[in-house]
Amino acid sequence: EAAVVSSGPTGKRLTVLSGPSGVGKSTVVAELRRSHPEVWLSVSVTTRAPRPGETHGVEYFFVSGEEFDRMVSCGELLEWAEFAGNRYGTPRAPVERRLAKGVPTLLEIDLQGARQVRESMPEALLVFLAPPSWEELENRLRGRGTEPDDVIARRLATGRVELAAESEFDLSLVNTEVKDVCGRLIALMR
Ligand code: 5GP
Repeated sequence: EAAVVSSGPTGKRLTVLSGPSGVGKSTVVAELRRSHPEVWLSVSVTTRAPRPGETHGVEYFFVSGEEFDRMVSCGELLEWAEFAGNRYGTPRAPVERRLAKGVPTLLEIDLQGARQVRESMPEALLVFLAPPSWEELENRLRGRGTEPDDVIARRLATGRVELAAESEFDLSLVNTEVKDVCGRLIALMR
């Protein structure tokens, strides 16, 4: 496999936003997309079905299990993980292209993926998005209302484990107010 480019000529390094499911990572990313178009947000591939309102190529590239297998075996993914019965991965080439150009680049991925980036790109900045409290996280996971009960139960169990991973990250941002979190994240990426 080709060597991974972890920072471009301008020294911009990759930033990874991770944290428990339901903490609000995708809300932060949606706000960044709106307010900070200069930041390039990696679009992951996933085998899960689109939720209402999601668009192929915006939130995710929705692919079949066969296509995902092909991308894994061809080394096209920078990292990938299975989460709640579906697979998610970061296409490698677009990330490398942006970093080589010095474009500020952000991945929003789960904890398993963040660990893989830690291994393959040691200079990446790993940011943990923390909930104000466990109760808050639990409410958010239950309240989404788009998933069946067994999926929610799996997300809750995973979330408890994920909360304990905070210490593995370079720093944490507590997700109190989305605009505030975006501002702090942008400041870190500069
Ligand atoms: P959701 O199904 O709610 O969109 O995402 C479920 C989890 O998958 C979230 O924690 C999200 O951060 C994570 N995720 C999304 N894209 C990727 C990816 O490319 N790689 C990894 N490892 N996790 C991802």
